[in-house]
Amino acid sequence: MADRYQQFTKSPVGKFVVPKLGLPNPATLRRYKPGQPALEGPALLGAAPGGRLEKVIEAQLHRAGIEVISTAADKHAALVFDATGVKDPKQLREVYDFFHPVIRSVGPSGRVVILGTPPELAEGHERIAQRALEGFVRSVGKELKRGATAQLVYVAEGAEEATESTLRFLLSSKSAFVDAQVIRVGTETKTASAPADWTKPLDGKVALVTGASRGIGAAIAEVLGRDGAHVVALDIPAQGADLSKVANKVGGSALQLDITAADAPEKLAEYLTTRHGGVDIVVHNAGITRDKTLGNMTEGGWDSVISVNLASQLAVNEKLLADKVLHDNGRIIGVSSIAGIAGNVGQTNYATSKAGVIGMVNVGAPTLAEYGGTINAVAPGFIETKMTAAVPLFIREAGRRLSSLGQGGLPVDVAETIAWYANPASAAVNGNVVRVCGQALLGA
Ligand code: NAD
Repeated sequence: MADRYQQFTKSPVGKFVVPKLGLPNPATLRRYKPGQPALEGPALLGAAPGGRLEKVIEAQLHRAGIEVISTAADKHAALVFDATGVKDPKQLREVYDFFHPVIRSVGPSGRVVILGTPPELAEGHERIAQRALEGFVRSVGKELKRGATAQLVYVAEGAEEATESTLRFLLSSKSAFVDAQVIRVGTETKTASAPADWTKPLDGKVALVTGASRGIGAAIAEVLGRDGAHVVALDIPAQGADLSKVANKVGGSALQLDITAADAPEKLAEYLTTRHGGVDIVVHNAGITRDKTLGNMTEGGWDSVISVNLASQLAVNEKLLADKVLHDNGRIIGVSSIAGIAGNVGQTNYATSKAGVIGMVNVGAPTLAEYGGTINAVAPGFIETKMTAAVPLFIREAGRRLSSLGQGGLPVDVAETIAWYANPASAAVNGNVVRVCGQALLGA
């Protein structure tokens, strides 16, 4: 599973040879450790005239323990710009004027965050100008070096106070492998509440994680447990031993169940109700691949992938909502894939199922909002797991290097993104699909 090339670049020989030959030199990404400073330096905050977010954001950054400056220094851990005042393409010049002098000052694993107004909620020239910000951010993501990332957050009018969990996530090391994403924070803020303790935002919550015995699912269980949730770790009976280990490690419960079984939604609803009085967070992580080009694919290969990766999830959601097992202000989180966005050779079944997860988010968002809840998805790119270790070497290397961050992500990167969605303060983050892919060129 190890990225031997990246290890080589950090060795004495690699440090000498790699720059000489102009080889890729992936940065060591800063990742979250409890107690680490929010940022390794100051955040420069700026705004286009007439912006509605600057003051609110300044207070949010202070609360997060970030040093905020308004005059450029030599080095910045983050550049944050309120572009909501940009109402016309001519005013895009404000964006250039802010970033041009300071873009080279962004430190290792630094952060660029631009905040705008959702184009679909604006009209005419404002809509065009706000839409244009996407091209800017995606290009900055490609230009930044040393593990730095760029993101665009569209904040609906009225949702200003509800941006805090998103800003904290994007500026922190928890978003290490999230790059060049466009996130929407809406106005469904009636249930958004800041956690009493930002290091334990899920205290008192019950979280179900499917496919939790290994890989990304095990990391999700660990991160949600770290954040205070009681985790119900679910996997098929054949994975029982590993599942127990994960559940024990996070102080949660293990539930052996095949989610594709006809009675699985019923059993799950009963288990969650009788043992835990319901559930707050549902993470549909269980997934399988049965790769074959379409002409070679059997009916079984098609059916099993659609069943695990999509149909069973819909059945579970419908049951948990209908029986009110999912608490109000609940969270449903899907695990899609960049294959579901870009498609992939040999994965018509898998890509169909993963694109379907995006459809599930689109359809579910208004429904969940009625309950004060949210539904969102992550779309991982190349993540270092057993699944990707089995990929042939050349394709594996391409998967790692053909991205702005030049490396694969870790399961924890997917898990941290899911924890941000699960945070009670993220109630206005609904209907999003965020890629955790280091800005992979695939599907860009
Ligand atoms: P994995 O194969 O290591 O883990 C998947 C888990 O799901 C396994 O423990 C498996 O037993 C469980 N599972 C399968 N069928 C099940 C069923 N019917 N009922 C209950 N549990 C079942 O895979 P992973 O790499 O950790 O991937 C986790 C998720 O992330 C999957 O949905 C996958 O499609 C997605 N994903 C992974 C990558 C990657 O690079 N690894 C990229 C994009 C998306």
